Amino acid sequence: MSTGVETFEFQTEARQLLDLMIHSIYSNKEIFLRELISNSSDALDKRRFAAIHAPELLQADTQLAIRVDVDKARRTIAVADNGIGMTRQEVIDLIGTIAKSGTQEFLKALKAAKAEDVPPELIGQFGVGFYSCFMVAEKVELLTRHVGEETATRWESRGEGTYAIEAAERPEPGTTVTVHLKAADEEEGVGDFTDEWVIKRIVKRYSDFVAYPIRMDVERTRSDHDDAGKPVPGTEKKVVETEALNSMKAIWLRDKDAVGEEEHNEFYKHVSHDWNDPLTRIQAKIEGTLEYRMLLYVPSRAPFDLYYIGGSRHGVHLYVKRVFIMDDCKELLPEYLRFLRGVVDSEDLPLNISREMLQKDRQTERMRRGITAKVLDALGRMRDAEPEKFQTFWREFGRTLKEGLFQDAENREKLLDLCQFASTADPTNLTRLDAYVDRMPPDQDAVYYLTGTTRAKAEQSPHIEAFREKGFEVLLLTDPVDEVWTQAVFEYRDKPFRSITKGAVELGSEEDRKQAEDARKEKEQSYASLLEFLKDKLADEVKDVRLSSRLTQSPACLVGDPSDLSPQLEQMMRALGHDAPKVKRILELNPSHPVLERLHARFERDRNDPAIAECAELLYGQALLAEGNAPSDPARFGKLVAEWMAKSL
Ligand code: ADP
Repeated sequence: MSTGVETFEFQTEARQLLDLMIHSIYSNKEIFLRELISNSSDALDKRRFAAIHAPELLQADTQLAIRVDVDKARRTIAVADNGIGMTRQEVIDLIGTIAKSGTQEFLKALKAAKAEDVPPELIGQFGVGFYSCFMVAEKVELLTRHVGEETATRWESRGEGTYAIEAAERPEPGTTVTVHLKAADEEEGVGDFTDEWVIKRIVKRYSDFVAYPIRMDVERTRSDHDDAGKPVPGTEKKVVETEALNSMKAIWLRDKDAVGEEEHNEFYKHVSHDWNDPLTRIQAKIEGTLEYRMLLYVPSRAPFDLYYIGGSRHGVHLYVKRVFIMDDCKELLPEYLRFLRGVVDSEDLPLNISREMLQKDRQTERMRRGITAKVLDALGRMRDAEPEKFQTFWREFGRTLKEGLFQDAENREKLLDLCQFASTADPTNLTRLDAYVDRMPPDQDAVYYLTGTTRAKAEQSPHIEAFREKGFEVLLLTDPVDEVWTQAVFEYRDKPFRSITKGAVELGSEEDRKQAEDARKEKEQSYASLLEFLKDKLADEVKDVRLSSRLTQSPACLVGDPSDLSPQLEQMMRALGHDAPKVKRILELNPSHPVLERLHARFERDRNDPAIAECAELLYGQALLAEGNAPSDPARFGKLVAEWMAKSL
């Protein structure tokens, strides 16, 4: 074991985040205390949980607690716990490094802005926990000893790029963080952080429900009392008393009406490590063969790492009979509700339940189904009673919820009812599916949709033309996840979902369709050799060239067979490292477009006219452009266009 002091550099991401923290204008600096207390509370939870399986880690007479010690003269605040502690390596890995996936992307997104301009909610959303003490500290010291280890580790930093580590002593396992306050910290409205009343107010406000006592030594003047209980003058002396600063009341056990909004907000921040208030909460007490309470919160913003594997670790905390068992209990929620935060407290699970047991446990499975049903019902109520809130919810988590459409067949109908989609019927608002179905004209028999990358591009797509003309509404699906669920969900209220870029379309009543099809077939016969010729010319690009019923204005578009992967899905699969075969598509041409008529005439006159092959290339390139994709050789395409322009001018 090395003895001397070793200096390390913060990992780049950690340094950038620290920098943000120190220089941001985050005005609510007092929350550093909440963050330290939260970390201590987590560490105590971990020690208690570890001791369930290894009782030697917690002696019967050890009282798990948090202490706040203030030294007015040195201007320090120390938060100490007798929790799990950290090994030397853990200090380096956990404190000197940010291991959250997605950090780089998060920082890249912020890079354009100066630290002072970064909106506090964004930093809050990232939740830089421990580093928040650098908002008020000129120096931070951390002394920690892991349970089951003899040696402690001392860590110290000014937050300026490096930190120092050395071996040290600590009589008990646990962690002490000592914040050396910056000189001028009489923040307006905050007061001096070394003031007893300021500390009390902050703890009460942010950490009242913490399940361990938070204690502080306070100095009081006490006198002796006479027989009547009156203080005796002249006997005043200074004494130090230890006070508990928090009530430790578990918020989910209290009467719904007894807990105020503010208390919920702070409890939410404690369990989620988010710095922003939640959007809403879902609370229920379930009784019967299986008994549990749930208090779950929907964040007001999607955590930045919602889409990263291993992201968002704080999830749902599992308690058994009011004893904390674990955080991030994935087994209690389906994957598509992973954005929820909060607590589930079970009356039935055994106290010594492990993650492995949870995965196989039938009760857990039943709880998960029960919780899911409650959450979906609550979301439904929010949609009906608080539409604006629901819009925020949908903006932040709609994409995630849609994953449920293919993950959770049991709740598919409920989920489809919650979904909101962009549609050709309304350029600004999203529509619900039931409203879509209600608007369907009698001769429309399917729910039509178009997948694409942006709404603007989708709206311009030539595939929509015939639908517009006919007055059939088309859903514009632009989330990557839409590509996936539309492969798995086939109908809504007995109406099939149908992609307008796949298969042949014939719109309208039985009779209309028959007529249109006959007319198209007839044309196809007279165009047969041209179509054959074009197909041959474009054989490397498309698998067929045929006449279209979906175009009314554009000359050409590309479509797939009903079972084909869409180009977006193909791209997504490649991006994820899957071996997606290149799917050739079908070029559809508009038989009533003048280009096609003239092309046909010219082809009849002279099949070897080089203009025909060029025209094939131009039509194909245009079809690609119309859906927002580039022709495979843009330079050649541009040159051809210019040549044709010159000819016609
Ligand atoms: P977060 O709490 O969101 O994970 P922090 O930066 O606050 O982020 O803390 C990083 C990690 O350092 C924690 O996840 C925990 O493992 C460890 N840690 C922080 N404070 C303590 C403490 N008081 N006791 C033990 N471990 C701690």
